[in-house]
Amino acid sequence: MKPVYLDNNATTAVAPEVLEEMLPYLRELYGNPSSMHTFGGQLYRRIEEARAKVAAFVGAEPEEILFTSCGTESDNTAIMSALESYPHKRHFVTTRVEHPAVLNFGKHLARKGYRVTFLPVDTRGRLDMDGFLKAVDEDTAVVSIMYANNETGVIFPIREIGEILKERKVLFHTDGVQAAGKIPIDLKELPVDMLSLSGHKLHAPKGVGVLYVRKGTRFYPYIIGGHQERGRRAGTENVASIIAVGRACELAGATLGAEDEHVRTLRDRLEAALLQCCPDVRINGDPEHRLPNTTNISFEYVEGEAILLRLNEFGICASSGSACTSGSLEPSHVLRTMGVPFTAVHGSIRFSLSRYNTEEEIEKVIEVLPPIIKELRTISPFARKKIVCPE
Ligand code: PLP
Repeated sequence: MKPVYLDNNATTAVAPEVLEEMLPYLRELYGNPSSMHTFGGQLYRRIEEARAKVAAFVGAEPEEILFTSCGTESDNTAIMSALESYPHKRHFVTTRVEHPAVLNFGKHLARKGYRVTFLPVDTRGRLDMDGFLKAVDEDTAVVSIMYANNETGVIFPIREIGEILKERKVLFHTDGVQAAGKIPIDLKELPVDMLSLSGHKLHAPKGVGVLYVRKGTRFYPYIIGGHQERGRRAGTENVASIIAVGRACELAGATLGAEDEHVRTLRDRLEAALLQCCPDVRINGDPEHRLPNTTNISFEYVEGEAILLRLNEFGICASSGSACTSGSLEPSHVLRTMGVPFTAVHGSIRFSLSRYNTEEEIEKVIEVLPPIIKELRTISPFARKKIVCPE
């Protein structure tokens, strides 16, 4: 049975076109791009072609694109580079709803003695703009605010934030890992200094990331060693995966408009049907500023993990919170920051779609899920008593 894969914010299937393009670099073209022989030159040129494709996808220049090992490395590098470049500035501003790649890095910086501000969001997951305006000061080296949230899909006002920071001459990094391939990103138009991407969220394999660094931005490498990436990120290049991410960006650029429409239609159908069929259901996150492929739904008085296990029996893959935090029993930090009630946080499920999902798959979820919720509620002590737990 082919799984119904609705967990694309956790990771995506490698596109067949991408796999085909990368395979020769795992077979016969295995050389090191830095070598002086035929292999070297050939691979170096292919890496540059991939760089140009990634650049075109986000409206950047090729020399503004660095290849890294993942989105996490890109995020850490951007923040650390800013702090190293402006050592007299000791303040870092971010939000409470970032992915752990930024959030936990912020906590690490706080332990190292930096002043770190974690901005709150409102009940719809929208940034507290007043808090942001007040937080940024002369001591702020960099602000890192995600483009779109991985759990709820809420899109942040990146242009507005960037314009304010440009005026105040403060560096701005945005984690674009979830936004890329789902909504257009044009860095020619956006006042952003650094932006992170991750290959495996874009139908390329795991283990490759991208960091955009705007021309003229001070940069300090995080991984120090050889001369690769013009001395900005040492380590022998992951050639096959770099070729893959280039092709993935090319594909995403070509299919973006149609794909948006496709996943939005399916997502909206799923939401509408579940809202209609199940009582005590809520959608988490600003409905007007949301990624088209993501829905975060709370089924009150039911355990999210129980829903996932039952869905899994029907071959349906979803997630309760982000994949990176689901290894712990902690409820989602994003939903808690939004003030979602305890009973709804624990019953939250994220469905995230991709270009490969079909109408039949969504209809299957609509058929299978309401009876699961009904059944789980019959055995839930919360549902029986309708307990409202203290926050
Ligand atoms: N940033 C966001 C918003 C993410 O969703 C993720 C992964 O889930 C990451 C960063 C980390 O990316 P990677 O898995 O490539 O390290």
